[in-house]
Amino acid sequence: MYDVIVIGGGPAGSQAARLLARRGLEVVVLEKGGPDHVKCCAGALSGRALPFLEGIQLPPSTDLKNVELIYKNKKILYTSQSQIAKFVVRSQLDQTLREAAQKAGALIRYQTAAQQVRLFPDRVEVEVRGGKVQGRYLVGADGATGITRRLGSESPKRMAIGLEGEIFLPEALDKYAEKVLIDISWLSSGYAWLFPKKDRLSVGIVSFSGRPVALRKHFQRFIDSLKLPSPKTHLAHPLPALAPEKLVIGRCLLAGDATSLVDRFSGEGIAYALHSGTLAAEAIASALEEGTSLESYQELVEEEIYSQLKITSKLQKAFWFWPWLSHFVLRRHPSLMEEYFSTVAGQKSYAELAEKLKQEFVRGRWLKRESQ
Ligand SMILES: Cc1cc2nc3c(=O)[nH]c(=O)nc-3n(C[C@H](O)[C@H](O)[C@H](O)COP(=O)(O)OP(=O)(O)OC[C@H]3O[C@@H](n4cnc5c(N)ncnc54)[C@H](O)[C@@H]3O)c2cc1C
Repeated sequence: MYDVIVIGGGPAGSQAARLLARRGLEVVVLEKGGPDHVKCCAGALSGRALPFLEGIQLPPSTDLKNVELIYKNKKILYTSQSQIAKFVVRSQLDQTLREAAQKAGALIRYQTAAQQVRLFPDRVEVEVRGGKVQGRYLVGADGATGITRRLGSESPKRMAIGLEGEIFLPEALDKYAEKVLIDISWLSSGYAWLFPKKDRLSVGIVSFSGRPVALRKHFQRFIDSLKLPSPKTHLAHPLPALAPEKLVIGRCLLAGDATSLVDRFSGEGIAYALHSGTLAAEAIASALEEGTSLESYQELVEEEIYSQLKITSKLQKAFWFWPWLSHFVLRRHPSLMEEYFSTVAGQKSYAELAEKLKQEFVRGRWLKRESQ
């Protein structure tokens, strides 16, 4: 019997597995894909994510400070004072994190889909093809479409949806190497992006409305507007919507997308997957080593993560109420961009950002043109 079974070898699962194995615990990760499994993702690793990855040699990345925010034919070019994010190839990041977990002592079982979970008072059992795996605790980290999500929330929640493809054309890379493009012209609630990586461009679009939307059509229009060729392939995947969920179900803890830890304003989820994977590992280690209750995990995730995500959810509603007005305000008041991106970089909390925005609003500064 393993000490811990982790379902899902994405950022949340690999992080939990690495930290638990590092403490000498017997850990197995069940991953339904192979070692080069591709998760649909733009691969922006924010400053919030980086502290959880200390000591890990990350795959090649671009570190950009320039952002162009586009609405119709109006553009704001903003240069951040600090690094906003590292742009990595997501499959390479996942491989790196799984290898780090393996190096720490965790066993990774690829091509092993968890089919069913059974929770008992003294153990957990996961059914896989050809048998079952038993453990003392379980981390459900199988993402937005996995099987453990259902343990924590009874009704299906509305989900955002994103679509991403990659372009490998050297001329296009040269043309778009210097800046991140965010285009808010195409959807009533969502944006299209272009993120330059070392050897490719990530292009995609995300809709936060939760309603059916012709995502592929808008994606194509965005690509055409940049005069780029269509990516050879693209993938679509849901982003779970924020909802209060049960994170501790008997001996099982849910982490990452399996429990909807995604920023509804930007779509960022890797940092929260790593953060919750870290907290899950700490809660299980302390239950095993000191006999403490797992309930502290729920409290900590609510305090450290949900509290922030609730604010990004409000930001999302406010920003998309009138996107043209949001763009107009940002054009006149570019320091708000710095406020936002320094928060993404992890230099302040979303609660501090919200307070700052409130103060600026109350003082009526949003409507005045800022001196440059
Ligand atoms: C289009 C798009 C773009 C995005 N861009 C960004 C971005 O730039 N930056 C960012 O921070 N976030 C981004 N996100 C969000 C981010 O991808 C997720 O929040 C993040 O991947 C969550 O990590 P996770 O480990 O919880 O789940 P996942 O990364 O989804 O990992 C779950 C793992 O579980 C495995 N699995 C699933 N079911 C089973 C099963 N039954 N048995 C065994 N294994 C199973 C899967 O194969 C997968 O490897 C984006 C999302 C989308 C859809």
